[in-house]
Amino acid sequence: MKTVWITGGSRGIGAAAVREFARAGWRAAFSYRSSEKAARALVQELAAEGHTALAVRADMCVRAEVDACVREIHAAFGPVDALVCNAGVAQQKLFQDITDADWDFIFDGNLKSAFYAVQAVLPDFFAAQKGSVVTVSSVWGVTGASCESHYAAAKSGLIGLTKSLAQELGPSGVRVNCVAPGVIDTDMNRGHSAETMRALAEETPLCRIGTPEEAAKAVFFLASDASAFITGQVLGVAGGFGGC
Ligand code: NAP
Repeated sequence: MKTVWITGGSRGIGAAAVREFARAGWRAAFSYRSSEKAARALVQELAAEGHTALAVRADMCVRAEVDACVREIHAAFGPVDALVCNAGVAQQKLFQDITDADWDFIFDGNLKSAFYAVQAVLPDFFAAQKGSVVTVSSVWGVTGASCESHYAAAKSGLIGLTKSLAQELGPSGVRVNCVAPGVIDTDMNRGHSAETMRALAEETPLCRIGTPEEAAKAVFFLASDASAFITGQVLGVAGGFGGC
């Protein structure tokens, strides 16, 4: 049985990915920062179905907590076979209003968190001479985004990290790919008005927003052996939004 570690698994796309892996027979470990109740409920839901999941509270922006999280996963499940760098945070602001604290919040939450998580699992991957990383970027990281320039820049950085690591880690048997979701129905978009959500759906060639489950299926594909000869790629899950 393989083990996956999904960062930010308590809600949204991450929680859908936890379900996807667990129901496919993987041991699904996930980290979360504050949604304790949702994390516990997810573990119980999957246990009731006979699946194995583990929730670990850890802030992915704090290296000591990331490393402690991996130690807890090792103790419960052994080495990690696949990592999904899904934890992320968003913010809408005019560029001239972005403060130093906003910039760090977005870059730490979306990019430094992946830097820490990948480094934490590399010893497992090097020992096994195989492993798989899936980063969760965004269509905004491909196209850029007005009023979310720091978010778009961090998500572009995640794509650069993905492509770089695919080259550096490929000879060690480690694949690194990226999913770039478009507009997905999660808490991250709750701040948008119904009118904005309608406009976003209209801008999407498939004429709707996506579901967390649809994003999770793409994540699972890229993490699993079904994509064994694919690395360094960015897979849009966006209904064609922004050409992705
Ligand atoms: P969400 O519903 O807001 O969930 C975010 C998840 O990340 C939560 O589980 C949260 O945990 C966790 N998280 C955030 N910061 C964390 C930290 N420092 N340490 C640990 N966990 C942390 O978001 P989502 O829509 O599912 O987004 C998932 C990923 O997809 C993100 O990277 C996001 O940027 C990307 N994405 C989303 C969309 C979209 O339309 N929804 C589009 C493009 C890309 P707690 O709740 O426990 O804090």
